[in-house]
Amino acid sequence: MRVFFIGFGQAGGKLVDMFLAQDRKLGSASFRGIVINTARTDLMGIKHIPMEDRLLIGQTMVKGHGVGTDNVTGAKVAADEIDTIISAIDRRGTHDVDAFVVCAGLGGGTGSGGSPVLCRHLKRIYREPVYAVGVIPAPEEGRLYSLNAARSLSTLVNEADNVIVFDNSAWKNDGESVKSAYERLNEEIVRRFGVLFRAGEVSKYGVGEMVVDSSEIINTLRGGGISSVGYAISEAIPTMKGGKPVSKKDSGGLLSGILGKKEKRVEPHVDIASGEDKSAKIIGLVRRAMLGRLTLPCDYSTAERALVLVAGPPSELDRKGVEKSKSWVEENIAGVEVRGGDYPVDSGYVAAVVLLATIGDAPRIRELMELAKEAKEEVVKSRERSHTAMFDDGGVDPLFE
Ligand code: GDP
Repeated sequence: MRVFFIGFGQAGGKLVDMFLAQDRKLGSASFRGIVINTARTDLMGIKHIPMEDRLLIGQTMVKGHGVGTDNVTGAKVAADEIDTIISAIDRRGTHDVDAFVVCAGLGGGTGSGGSPVLCRHLKRIYREPVYAVGVIPAPEEGRLYSLNAARSLSTLVNEADNVIVFDNSAWKNDGESVKSAYERLNEEIVRRFGVLFRAGEVSKYGVGEMVVDSSEIINTLRGGGISSVGYAISEAIPTMKGGKPVSKKDSGGLLSGILGKKEKRVEPHVDIASGEDKSAKIIGLVRRAMLGRLTLPCDYSTAERALVLVAGPPSELDRKGVEKSKSWVEENIAGVEVRGGDYPVDSGYVAAVVLLATIGDAPRIRELMELAKEAKEEVVKSRERSHTAMFDDGGVDPLFE
């Protein structure tokens, strides 16, 4: 799929920077994008996006210093400068894109406020679908972050065609601060979504036996609401050359970088697998992807639709395995629409991605809404306890009204 990414705010900008860096590393041209911020220093921290594709907005209002955690101002700035934003997107070229993906951390100010505004306008202007990748904050980041994320997310689900959620708290390790985990979390996000959004693009191995094209991703996400992504990886059987296995280093690979090498749960292979084994391996991998840690932990049985994608060296891809995996996913989700296919890549690993779309229940979202409600009540109470309250009922007249 050819994707136009827009990174809004600091988290969104860093993610889009990484998506585009990954694309460049692969020598591919599937992804393009721009980044937008109200803080000049955040834009300067971007590494792989040319200066002309970094847009500073809200200069008259916040003078390049950012909106802090005020997402209402974030939304206002975006609305005021929507023409400048759309011109920057147009300048980068939109005629051949299949979808827009707006990335943002929903707990802050710029991305949290700006991304729903941008999605609304993109949807009005372009025919292509507009998706959001929204990062939700860990409760430890504070109630204001939860309140911001709850307000942003509940607006975003009405403005974007689908919101794929990543939960910072589900992915950081115990004892680790969210900030110190950013880089690792971002790698996880970009790896999963990179494989997903790249599906259907021609690799150097041509197209797969069971191609997933962009219309299938679009149809899977068609129901709107929120979605989550599962991922699992396993070592591929070494390619044989002259009766000897070619080492993974030698086999190098276009996508080995994408699929990732450091995954702890890699299952080593002992034997060269038969067709049956290949199929069983794919089914096992897809089950692990769906039952393992999702970008947003949720009850997968409430998903309306799903997409199963198996990426790996052509010798490992197996039509029967993909078909059986799709049936297994279909038995386990609420809806009956499960799409799927394979994506041949040059890699020492096989990866399965499961997109669970339009989820009916996610405890973390309910918790977020609850935290936000408490935070809102707290704001009202603190207003009532304002520093001028002690002067209000003293019966003393002010000097002038
Ligand atoms: P903005 O610049 O005002 O849009 O706000 P930020 O993007 O800095 O932060 C908003 C939320 O995103 C907070 O919950 C942060 O924890 C989270 N966040 C910031 N940077 C990153 C990042 O690099 N990765 C991840 N996963 N989350 C981030």
